[in-house]
Parts: sequence; structure tokens; C-alpha cells
Amino acid sequence: MKYSKLFGKTSKNVASDADSVNAKLLTQAAFIQKQISGVYNFLPLGLRVLTKIQNIIREEMNKIGGQEVLMPAMTQEENWITTGRNTMDVLFHLKGQGDTNLVLNPTHEEVITPLVQKYVFSYRDLPVALYQIQNKYRNEARAKSGLLRGREFSMKDLYSFHVDEADLNRYYDIVKQAYFKIYERIGIGGKTVLTFSSGGNFSQFSHEFQTLNEGGEDTIYLCSKCRVAVNKEIINTQKTCPECGNDKLEAVKATEVGNIFKLRTKFSDAFKFFYSDSQGKEKIVEMGCYGMGPSRVMGTVVELCHDDAGIIWPKNIAPYQVHLVGLDGLGEDLYQELLSKNIDVLFDDRDIGAGAKFADADLIGIPVRLVASKRSQEKGGIEFKLRSEKESEIIEAKDLVSKITSFYN
Ligand code: ATP
Ligand code: MG
Repeated sequence: MKYSKLFGKTSKNVASDADSVNAKLLTQAAFIQKQISGVYNFLPLGLRVLTKIQNIIREEMNKIGGQEVLMPAMTQEENWITTGRNTMDVLFHLKGQGDTNLVLNPTHEEVITPLVQKYVFSYRDLPVALYQIQNKYRNEARAKSGLLRGREFSMKDLYSFHVDEADLNRYYDIVKQAYFKIYERIGIGGKTVLTFSSGGNFSQFSHEFQTLNEGGEDTIYLCSKCRVAVNKEIINTQKTCPECGNDKLEAVKATEVGNIFKLRTKFSDAFKFFYSDSQGKEKIVEMGCYGMGPSRVMGTVVELCHDDAGIIWPKNIAPYQVHLVGLDGLGEDLYQELLSKNIDVLFDDRDIGAGAKFADADLIGIPVRLVASKRSQEKGGIEFKLRSEKESEIIEAKDLVSKITSFYN
């Protein structure tokens, strides 16, 4: 992509209402543009990052047998009356033709439970796990912090259905491991910890995945020995680490990037969702739900991975692999060559000064920066620099592609 043609340009000015690092940097670098409070447009650069995050999640969900579906954002209110959740304060209500009552779904238990009920009758149809990646709507009291707390935001929600609690427990642990893999691949694995929270009426615990960062909205209590924490809701009843019993728990700031929950029979009870077992006896279906917010993850990455000059994208979710700065009219040949080798390049081909191009490259945060200039030519090649490092080196043209591909492998 040529930067001169890219829709959405960097800006020197910080939006006056940017209340967080991610809102400020993502807006300045033209990844997102605020529509109204808690509602954002994703521009081409931003959509590339969001899509990469969603695709990593998608791959890991498929690996654990999740089947992707797409449910509607808009649903009859009736289903929410059935579960008693129609009074939830975050629910957006709207009127359809003929004065019908509709809602914009903030989560999809009320849609998926009756949907699965239409196809699952026998123990032979279970277990089944379905997920979607879709926008959710929540009338949050305080939409804030850029992508961290939106009113419209991206969520991956997986739901699993089982013959009994033992099978639910088995699958729950598989999903937990898949979540760790996802955060690892995205580049926040080292900062993301399993956090125990209350399990509601049915199970002892549910689990959050919390990414440690100073700007985080949540306070969690982190074990000094293992990478496990306890959240604020249960710290008064759970004063020691649930994993190792250690009583040294330290209060730290974090952002919830995922939440998994054994629903047990809460929703199958409400919708009277039974199956017949191998003896032909009616039994209630057991359920689990597993949420993760790709847009919040994107914001959290920026909160963690930046410096004074801008964003520093982890390699697996960067909008492009290479930011090629062309100076002195150079760069076009190299751009074409990299494209032909299937390397994703953003080529700054604009006729402006070197300083402004370097500043934009730092702000946008692509992991590898190349400079093609008269000076680099005189030194025998192309300047290669990682966004995360200060020093650059000159690489001979013939070695450049392997240098880039080995960085990305
Ligand atoms: P929180 O406690 O932060 O309000 P939640 O517990 O209500 O979130 P879930 O209903 O479990 O969240 O949603 C699943 C995931 O969706 C969360 O772990 C988070 O990553 C994401 N998410 C939830 N609410 C928002 C929001 N308002 N904006 C962006 N992402 C969100
Ligand atoms: Mg939560």
C-alpha cells in the first residue's frame, strides 16, 4: 500500500477528548475515528489490526472444535423476558414495525440457547460448541478509554452444550488453554494472567483473563508466586491464591480481555432445553460461555506496547509487516520486489521531508522500518530498523527478504 493513497492520515493534534493512551495514539495514527462516545469507525489500518486479532481467535476456536455462526444483532425482547434479563441496564431497546419490542444484543445466550434447541434432541447431538465474532451493543454508563469500554464493540462469544457437568468441565479446561494460546500469539501472553472471580449461583469460580497494565480499569490481587490472581468481587472470601494457597496477594491494575463462565443450567432451565439420554430419559443440557473482546484487546495492546513516539505493534497483529520509507525519490523498485515476495508493505512514497516520514513511521508502529535513500545506497544497501530498537543496520539488497522473513518466523 502506498501511504499517499491510504485513506486516513496521521494527525499532529491530539483529540481533546482522548482520555487514554489507546484513544490518543490510535486516533492520531488514523486507525480509528470516534463517531460518538464509545462508538468508533475503524479506518483501513485499524481494520487490518482488528481483523488479524479476530483471525487468531478464529483459528484457535476452530482448533478446539468451535463451529462459527453469525447471529443477528437485533432480537425480539421476548427472549430476554423469558430469562428475566430484559431489565438489564445496559440493554438497548428499540421499536419495530407494529410497535414490536426489540433489543440490540449485549451477549447472545438468549439467542443461541433457543437456536441450538432447534437442532439438538439426543445425547448423540452433544457436545456442540458454536461461536461468532460480531459487534455487541451495551449502553455502558461510562463508555470511555477508547476501545477499552465501548457501547458498540467487537466480541468473540463461544457457547458450549454438554450432556453433564463432567463434560462441561472437560471442555472448559480446553477453552482456558486456547485462551492462553491466543494471548500468546497476539503478543500479550506474558502480561495476561488467569484471574478467579465469582462463579455466581452454580459454580465456585468463573475466570477472567486480565492483562496487567497501569492504565487498567480493574484492580486484581496477583499471587507473588504463580501467575494467578483473584478479582475484587471475591477477594474478601478468597484471601489466598486458589492455585497454591499463598497469602501474599498484591493489588495491581489490569484490563479484562476475556471471561469464561460455566453457565450450568441457567439458560437451559429458562428455555426448557432438554435432551434424551441413552436410556431415553429427559435430561437438562449443561452450558458454558466464553467471551473475548477483539477491539478491547486491540486497545489493551496499545496501552502496553507504545513509547513517547507512538505505537509498537507486536508482529502477529501489525497492520503491515514492513514500513518502507522512500527518500530521494527511491523505494519504488524495492516496494515492488517486496510485494512480489508476498511481504505486506506500507510504502511512504510522499514528497515530504525525512523527519516527518520517520515521525509517522514511529507513530504508526509497524515492527520493521526500512529506509531506501541515497545515503543507505552509499553505505551499500537498505537501512533496516526494528520499531522496538534504537539502532539501525544496513542490509544488502540480496539479504533483505530473508532478514524480514526470519524476523517474522
Ligand atoms: P466488564 O467487566 O469489563 O464490564 P464484562 O464482564 O461485562 O466486562 P463479558 O460480558 O464477559 O464482559 O464480555 C466478554 C468480553 O468482551 C470481555 O472480557 C471484554 O474483553 C469484552 N468487553 C466487554 N464489555 C466491553 C465493552 N464495553 N467494550 C469493549 N469490550 C468489552
Ligand atoms: Mg467482567
